[in-house]
Amino acid sequence: MNRVKKILVVGGGIGGLAAGAAFAQRGIETDVVEIQPDSGVLGIGINQPANSLRALKNIGVLEQVCDVGFQYDEWKYNDEEGNLIARCPSSMGGDGIPANNALARKDLHGILIGAAKQAGATIHYGKTITDLLDHGESVDATFSDGQHKNYDLIVAFDGISSAMRKRLFGDAYEPIYTGFAVWRVLAPRPDDVKCINLFQSTGAKAGIIPLSKDWMYLLNVTPEPDVRYEPNRFVNMLHERLAGFGGIIGEIRDHHLKADSTVVYSPLRECMLPAPWFKGRVVICGDAAHACSPHLTQGAAMALEDAVVLAEEITADHGRAVNDALNAFMRRRYPRAKFVQDASHQILADEMAVTSDNIAAARIKMAIDLPRQMAAADAFLNQPA
Ligand SMILES: Cc1cc2nc3c(=O)[nH]c(=O)nc-3n(C[C@H](O)[C@H](O)[C@H](O)COP(=O)(O)OP(=O)(O)OC[C@H]3O[C@@H](n4cnc5c(N)ncnc54)[C@H](O)[C@@H]3O)c2cc1C
Repeated sequence: MNRVKKILVVGGGIGGLAAGAAFAQRGIETDVVEIQPDSGVLGIGINQPANSLRALKNIGVLEQVCDVGFQYDEWKYNDEEGNLIARCPSSMGGDGIPANNALARKDLHGILIGAAKQAGATIHYGKTITDLLDHGESVDATFSDGQHKNYDLIVAFDGISSAMRKRLFGDAYEPIYTGFAVWRVLAPRPDDVKCINLFQSTGAKAGIIPLSKDWMYLLNVTPEPDVRYEPNRFVNMLHERLAGFGGIIGEIRDHHLKADSTVVYSPLRECMLPAPWFKGRVVICGDAAHACSPHLTQGAAMALEDAVVLAEEITADHGRAVNDALNAFMRRRYPRAKFVQDASHQILADEMAVTSDNIAAARIKMAIDLPRQMAAADAFLNQPA
């Protein structure tokens, strides 16, 4: 019989907090351990497509995220001067779920913390798991503060550099650097920016995403070596990398990118753990199992779906063994995570393969292919998780 009464969630990021809420809302005693000393979140904004919003609705926070975010139903692709190449109306959502809602990362974090706590989950900051002993029917966890506790299940949402993935599966599935990185900075939103706009250049892509009535963020995807840059160089480096862009990207570069701007630099790494993502009573979820490039804005969506689907399967009244519930989880999760992984990687590869020799042909191909490709991705992802 499936009698999961106590769960440990390792990692208090987007997926871990949502899992904390989803398990606790179903009556499971849930501890979340987060290695960072507080809930401070790095990053600027995040887009939540409709499937992400469905998972957030499941844990009761759809209204809250929509109240602080910016909803829209279209992606536009432009050249580097801002001339329109393709419009891709989003065909996701419906039944009260917007096609997209973008918001500040710290707002999403705050809302998820509130949901997890309100449901009764306990969040421990500055704490991690240091050892575990899986007895088959339960797992003993040892923590960094020397405490021990027994759980029916351990769920690792400890991010792309997951120590839990390494513990379970060794070094075979370490993240792979794509050769590209994303630069992001906040800027005021002009009234006429009402959806995602992307700007394709040669070997680089910029974009803007509205986040609220007042704010949007600029992104720039560029080829970069796998080295660490000093953060005090970020503003100048981003300025240089935006040199080829005109239109609104040029305006942001010239008028809003200031010496004291906070630029977030994220090298793009990918990892895909083959199924199954669990061993015994320990399961790996979110970026720890399937970190993708952000080109479909689906990474957090996949983590949120993992959280909700795992909670559903673990508590489904099937009288099943935990192992069967985890296999059912895998059957629902692997195809979607793999689809997002592959499609996001292909978009990144196609965009970064645009050179001065092929850009004219690439623009024609984008105009023909993108609306169809985005509609196909939407149709797949709009199906129930
Ligand atoms: C540039 C960029 C843009 C993106 N834009 C979007 C977007 O628009 N939409 C979208 O859906 N997704 C987006 N993503 C992806 C999204 O951010 C991730 O997929 C998502 O954060 C994954 O959630 P997670 O909970 O699995 O991991 P994380 O959010 O990374 O959380 C992991 C948590 O675990 C903690 N942790 C790590 N190790 C331990 C340990 N040993 N013990 C305890 N805690 C630990 C970390 O401190 C962290 O809090 C983007 C990603 C990038 C890089």
